[in-house]
This record gives sequence, C-alpha cells and structure tokens, in this order.
Amino acid sequence: MLELIDIKKSFEDKAVIQGVDLSVRKGEVVVIVGPSGSGKSTLLRMMNVLEYPTSGDIKLEGASILFKESRGKRIPHTQKELSRFRAEVGMVFQGFHLFAHKTVLENLIEGPVQVRKANRDEAIALAEQLLQKVGLADKRDQYPDSLSGGQQQRVAIARALAMKPRLLLFDEPTSALDPELVGEVLVVMKSLALEGMTMVVVTHEMGFAREVGDRILFVDNGTILFDAPPEEFFQEQHQHERIRRFLKSLS
Ligand code: ADP
Ligand code: MG
Repeated sequence: MLELIDIKKSFEDKAVIQGVDLSVRKGEVVVIVGPSGSGKSTLLRMMNVLEYPTSGDIKLEGASILFKESRGKRIPHTQKELSRFRAEVGMVFQGFHLFAHKTVLENLIEGPVQVRKANRDEAIALAEQLLQKVGLADKRDQYPDSLSGGQQQRVAIARALAMKPRLLLFDEPTSALDPELVGEVLVVMKSLALEGMTMVVVTHEMGFAREVGDRILFVDNGTILFDAPPEEFFQEQHQHERIRRFLKSLS
C-alpha cells in the first residue's frame, strides 16, 4: 500500500530523518512511538506530501507520490498532482483543524465537493452515514466550537473518511484531549481498524498500540530503532535500553 524508500529529511543543516525504509501493507495498523522531537510528525507529514523529503522516494500502491518520468527524466509532480495524492491519504491531527466557520456537515462535504468534485447530494448522504458511524449524527448542523474536543476529533476522523482515502494517518490524535475524552476517539479508531482500514498512527496510548497495532515502530533520532509486533515490543526485558527507558517514562 505504502512504501518509504531510504527517506531522508533535513531542515537547513539538521538531519531530522536519517534513512527510513518502511512498508505498510493493505489493512495493516502501524503504530509509531518515540520521544518528542524524534521525527514522528515529519515522517507522517512526508507520507502525505505535506513535507518533501530531501532524498528517497515514497510509493502509494506502487506509484511514486513525489516524482514522475518525463522524457526519460525524473521530475517532481505538479501541485495539482500532489493534491490528488494528498486526497488519497487522509490525515488526522492533534489539533483537529476543523473549519470553524462551517457546520459539522459542511466540514464533511467541503473536501469531497471541492477536491473530489463529488455530487453534493451524494456527499451529504455519505457525510450523514459517516456522522452516524462516529456517533455524531445529531450534531450535523452545529459548529465545531460547540462540541467537546472528543467530538471535534471524531468529526475530524469522519471528515478524513469522507474523502474515501486509501490510508489514514493519525498524528497524536488524542494528545490534546482531556483524559476522559480519549476513550471515545480510540473506540472510533479501533472500529476503523477492525473494518480493515490501513492506518499509520503516532500515539503515546500504549493500550491502543498493544491491542490494535499490527506492528509497533520505535523512532528515535530520525531512525526506526525497532519494528515488530506488539508482543515483542512490550517484552519485559527489552533488548534496547532506549526503549526500556521510554516505556518507563510513560508509566
Ligand atoms: P516528533 O513529532 O517526533 O516530536 P518532529 O517530526 O515534529 O518530531 O520534529 C523532529 C525534529 O525536526 C525536531 O528537532 C524539530 O524541531 C525539527 N523540525 C520539525 N519541523 C521543522 C521545520 N519546519 N523546520 C525546522 N525544524 C523542524
Ligand atoms: Mg509530533
């Protein structure tokens, strides 16, 4: 589904991602954990071409989302082509990023109608179905600021789904929420995983990682230090001192 090939990223002189190779299979839930500043968000943002790698390539179902061939040369995609790839890869942010001046329903149909050129009535029908799915059918005509953080994040998830993405990226989706609202968002994410949605999730929620993740990646200092199923990751006597320390810092 998604392949990162020797991805490197520097900001000015600072190497933030230092050669990452990663494959995500269809239907897989890959959880990324690691200390603050290790490059998790940068990695995710490159999967959605919100950030361009300094070198390497990223493929979505076999096709590069960064480059195309033109007269035997490899050249970057145009902005229009990039926005097509962005539409295929949904993203949910820590801070919800809803349109404040639009109702919940308008938030959900904006992308499909403007970017996907979907029929408005069909977009509304899908939006209502998705609001049902995240348990917010009764909020369709409300504005985001009248909702709790947990409800706003569920709207953001429904909005991402409205674009019918091939995969969904989550960047610490529950980190900005009051503790009592975390669960309702994780429940929605778990149900998506069970339905077979391909997901890459940056989170500190180790319960979710253990229960829902197919693989856990530990990122430290711009590299993947460990990539294995949860059972192995949570082993008491983890061979990596760095991971042991990280797990301890969370508990
Ligand atoms: P994480 O999500 O794991 O906390 P980030 O990917 O946000 O880490 O950041 C990794 C490193 O890259 C940090 O040192 C951060 O300061 C740096 N960084 C991220 N974005 C930028 C940027 N736009 N310009 C300069 N440095 C950046
Ligand atoms: Mg981050």
